[in-house]
Amino acid sequence: MEEQLQLLAQLAAVDAELDELHDELGDLPAEVKKIEKVVRAKQDAVDTTKAAIDELNQLRSTAHVTMQESHDKEQKLAQQQFQVKNNREFDAITKEIEHLKQERADLDERLRTAGVTEENLTTTLQQQQAELDEVHSKLVDKEKALEVLSGDQNEDLKKFIALRLKIIAKLDDTLEAEYERIRTFHSEAAVALRKNSCSGCYSAIPSQRIMEMKYQRDKLYTCENCGRILFTEDVAVDIEELLEAQG
Ligand SMILES: [Zn+2]
Repeated sequence: MEEQLQLLAQLAAVDAELDELHDELGDLPAEVKKIEKVVRAKQDAVDTTKAAIDELNQLRSTAHVTMQESHDKEQKLAQQQFQVKNNREFDAITKEIEHLKQERADLDERLRTAGVTEENLTTTLQQQQAELDEVHSKLVDKEKALEVLSGDQNEDLKKFIALRLKIIAKLDDTLEAEYERIRTFHSEAAVALRKNSCSGCYSAIPSQRIMEMKYQRDKLYTCENCGRILFTEDVAVDIEELLEAQG
């Protein structure tokens, strides 16, 4: 049991390191995702405005031809109107001509206001582009930070995961299961006795129990208050020493 308790203490020390590595990454991955979403939205806004400007330019460059075609069509219709056989046909052509005139009036109006519209769109685009650039550079910074942190962590992670596997291979399965069960409640599942208290929840341990822990080392002790596995201070593990011992 003493050796098993030693292994549990080692496992707890390794898990504390792994937990710390995990905490270091913190909210960064979530933050990166959030900013990516904002970048996409800002990019969409920029694209929409650019498309509107393109459409406006397209309208201007084809306006002359469109107008000419409309006039030609109207002339043809006017000639047809002389050859109609009844009022119904006459009215239909009149309607078509009115429609063409309305289309040209609309186009005229759009061309007349195109300058102002383009000015507004250009101003909007500049603002949107500036916002996009800002949030994009923020994203690049965060991604870099995440990359550096993950890179630094990789070596440590590998080291601790390898060590953890070694410990678990020697640890009794029932004890390991119990340790993992406690870990779902407390990240530090096995803790040292310190100043006659549980170093997990700081509640005092009865002196009778402390004597037992010291002299009856064939038993697994847990804190009656928090349920963590307890070991005496001499079993506590220094993670650096443990790593060195592993070579
Ligand atoms: Zn406790």
